[in-house]
Amino acid sequence: MNAAQSPSPVWHPFTQHGLEQPFKRIVRTEGSSLIDEDGQRIFDGISSWWVITHGHRHPAIMAAIRDATENFDQVIFAEYSHEPAEALASGLIELAPPGLTHVFYSDSGSTAVEVAIKMALGYFHHRGERKARIIVMEHSYHGDTVGAMSVGERGVFNAPYQPLLFDVGRLPFPRPGQEQQTLDALEQLCRGGDVAAVLVEPLILGAGGMKLYAPSVLAEIAAIASRSGALLIADEVMTGWGRTGTLFACEQAGITPDILCTSKGLTGGALPLAATLSKPEIFEAHRSTDRSRTFFHSSSYAANPIACAAALANLDIWRQEPVKERIATLTSMQSEKLARFRNDPRFSEVRQIGTITALDLATQGTGYLSDVSPRLRRLFRERGLLIRPLGNVIYLMPPYCSSAEELNRAYAAIDECADLIR
Ligand code: PLP
Repeated sequence: MNAAQSPSPVWHPFTQHGLEQPFKRIVRTEGSSLIDEDGQRIFDGISSWWVITHGHRHPAIMAAIRDATENFDQVIFAEYSHEPAEALASGLIELAPPGLTHVFYSDSGSTAVEVAIKMALGYFHHRGERKARIIVMEHSYHGDTVGAMSVGERGVFNAPYQPLLFDVGRLPFPRPGQEQQTLDALEQLCRGGDVAAVLVEPLILGAGGMKLYAPSVLAEIAAIASRSGALLIADEVMTGWGRTGTLFACEQAGITPDILCTSKGLTGGALPLAATLSKPEIFEAHRSTDRSRTFFHSSSYAANPIACAAALANLDIWRQEPVKERIATLTSMQSEKLARFRNDPRFSEVRQIGTITALDLATQGTGYLSDVSPRLRRLFRERGLLIRPLGNVIYLMPPYCSSAEELNRAYAAIDECADLIR
């Protein structure tokens, strides 16, 4: 029986089960490909929701996982510790923007953000300062848990859950030429004196439509936050691990955020793990002989040793393999392929940052509820490609091992499907 016929008890994420059937069943992953039960190779043009960096089943990461299972499964992470988590924390501090000194583990991008928000509020609470407001940017996405939804864009995704969500200050997105408006709005919001943190996706808003803004704007945002005594939280869940051309996107603005969230590519995408890095004063505000100052947060699987071992292997790959060169090659191949769409009237805008490209299809019905994305997905799937547009925004964020031939196929399909969809 194939996947189409079998009634499945599985409830898939971000899936309208009343419309989307059947599912492709994947039996193997390899390099930049997913291989389905019919033996078809599918080019993973979005790195399986942006997690796979070096390629699926990188041998060093797989070996590290196998080795770790000789000694570990899960270990409680309160009162007890283990070498993979300690070595990984030291490695992360070495690689992250300078000045971040502590690493708190969790298990997804959403929880890394929840932890960051709680750290920021805890910091001011324990210092006796009445600052608890969070400022975010229009169109942001930070995950689907309740706190992460609260700081993200409101819309059809979270309409039923509005009663649970807390209020935040919102900055207009810094569109080219309108950056000053964003900065003025931030100055204005910070004047209230109650802002605990400014939370941003650095340089590119991912799920909000792959929208780009300049490093100079991020640097200005950091400066305003710092002047007003608010913390800057950088959500590098998507941007981390080379996607924008540098290991972390913050590097391009020359800033160190007070708190940095990372997940996805932390293990090269092989296992779920997240880390929230903080500056020392945030840790110190929680460290005390007073038990009420404890950072009251945990998840059962925090710092899973096997996931930490996978992340350590990822760090070794970054140190030992020519990852930066691979990223540079992918970046220039992407630029070359994108060039022919730059003056194409079927697209209202095309853009790129590092290894990520995005093309806005000029079409009616651009929102999440329109059928543009599901129709495109079907067309791409028929062509052996996993490309999952965000509304009318077609984007590629492939693994760093992707070949010129795979990119040729992807862009040829984008070219062809742009006509079929109109
Ligand atoms: N933050 C950003 C910027 C993201 O892009 C995502 C996921 O796409 C998240 C947070 C949530 O991560 P997760 O899906 O692992 O909870």
